[in-house]
Amino acid sequence: MVVRVQNYIDGHWKASRAGEYLGVYNPATAEKLGEVPLSPPEEVDEAAQAAQRALKGWRETPAGDRIQYLFRLKYLLEENFEDLSRTITMECGKTIVESRGEMRRAIENVEVASGIPSLIQGKFSEDIAPGIDEYFIRQPVGVVAIICPFNFPGMIPFWFMPYALACGNTVIVKPSEKVPLTMQKIFALMEQCGFPQGVVNLVNGAKETVDAILDHPLIRAISMVGSTPVARYIYARAAANGKRAQCQGGAKNISVVLPDADLETSTKVLADSAFGSAGQRCLATSIVAPVGEIQRDFVEAICEIARNRVVGYGLDEGVEMGPVITPQSKARIEGLIGKALEEDATILVDGRGAVIKGYEKGNFVRPTVILNIPPQGELFRTEIFGPVLSIMPVNTIEEAIELVNMGEYGNMACLFTKSGEAARKFRYHVQAGNVGINIGVAAPMAYFPFSGWKESFFGDLHGQGMDAVEFFTQKKVVIERWPKEWSRKF
Ligand code: NAD
Repeated sequence: MVVRVQNYIDGHWKASRAGEYLGVYNPATAEKLGEVPLSPPEEVDEAAQAAQRALKGWRETPAGDRIQYLFRLKYLLEENFEDLSRTITMECGKTIVESRGEMRRAIENVEVASGIPSLIQGKFSEDIAPGIDEYFIRQPVGVVAIICPFNFPGMIPFWFMPYALACGNTVIVKPSEKVPLTMQKIFALMEQCGFPQGVVNLVNGAKETVDAILDHPLIRAISMVGSTPVARYIYARAAANGKRAQCQGGAKNISVVLPDADLETSTKVLADSAFGSAGQRCLATSIVAPVGEIQRDFVEAICEIARNRVVGYGLDEGVEMGPVITPQSKARIEGLIGKALEEDATILVDGRGAVIKGYEKGNFVRPTVILNIPPQGELFRTEIFGPVLSIMPVNTIEEAIELVNMGEYGNMACLFTKSGEAARKFRYHVQAGNVGINIGVAAPMAYFPFSGWKESFFGDLHGQGMDAVEFFTQKKVVIERWPKEWSRKF
């Protein structure tokens, strides 16, 4: 069945009046799953107006009552966990195990945001001067919009949405046009939660829809996750329009393996990091720098895992890696693998031209390992966003740290070692916002900020946890004096 994706505005499902719809395809089977509207600016306006109308009532709803909707949402997400996970696999391509992991992290954010009655508390200082007190309270920002990428259709909206709602804001979500189906299902559950009309809104579309969001005067804050050029553009345009913005961008993550690392664990963990979700994670390791004598054994072991990874349709039993999102992505990734030869690197395991029996039309690229890419080349700089791992051997931990810090991005850096001293040095010096020590995907739990640095992030407050609470509230500082002589005597 081909789903005609709808918008959810002011408490109602609405067919878009868009002149153009895009196809939504299962990346493993090429089956058409749906059609997504490129919603025009008028529909963004309808959503913004509805959200603005809902703001007063929602903001005046006590925090303890607001989170009752989140408790209901958590319950419904748990009840529909398997269906949502299957939908993610079908539209996005990752394995069912990965999709379940994604939904678990989404729910974790609902749980953390449910603590808002304590998280939103302000501070109070008595007697800042004789008889004068000062305090601040946190109040909602207003109507906020969330613009999402394709690679986590279930989780990424939840880095922001539960916090925004719990803090008393009203919300517009714009999913990726490549994977709009998961949010159709989640909004059907949100409808069942009974949120008051206009508190949560869903508008589908692509650039034109985003631009209408960025320019809309009623929308006060923008949370966005996507590629670096788009994140930078959205941050700049939102800021130029006087909005607060947090935009998480792309990545090129380097992991370092020291000679004392446990070879078996580190290769297994790094293979999962590089090839999990077909490398389409902003926390995928895309370069490993083995230090000194471990290089030969590491290369041998990782190539062995890469060759044997079971690639196929994520809903099938035993599949360890799914396809990439579109035929264009596959062509782009294969083109970049081809660049290795121009850059005098060696392709040790070549994943190009993959054909999976029964899924011949799928966008499959098998795990690929490339040795010795040059630090001044295109492969070092470019986010490949596919199952491609490059290896750049170095001689010392200092050289490895220098390599990590040469990159333009700063999303994640990981170290594998048994040495606490080395771990401390690495943690201290690397210019990356998420650091893993003997961890391959350093994805912060919901109560920590998702902390990209450099070209991986534009803004100051990140998604998740207390950063999200700060982003979705504005502080009001009050200084109070109540002179004795003004009061009646009781
Ligand atoms: P993308 O930048 O193509 O799209 C992201 C969103 O922006 C989508 O909703 C899209 O409709 C919109 N968009 C795209 N082009 C636009 C334009 N020119 N003007 C206005 N809006 C536009 O990203 P993607 O391909 O969907 O997602 C993959 C990227 O996201 C990768 O670079 C990945 O590293 C990054 N990512 C980052 C994080 C993080 O936390 N840093 C997490 C997940 C994904």
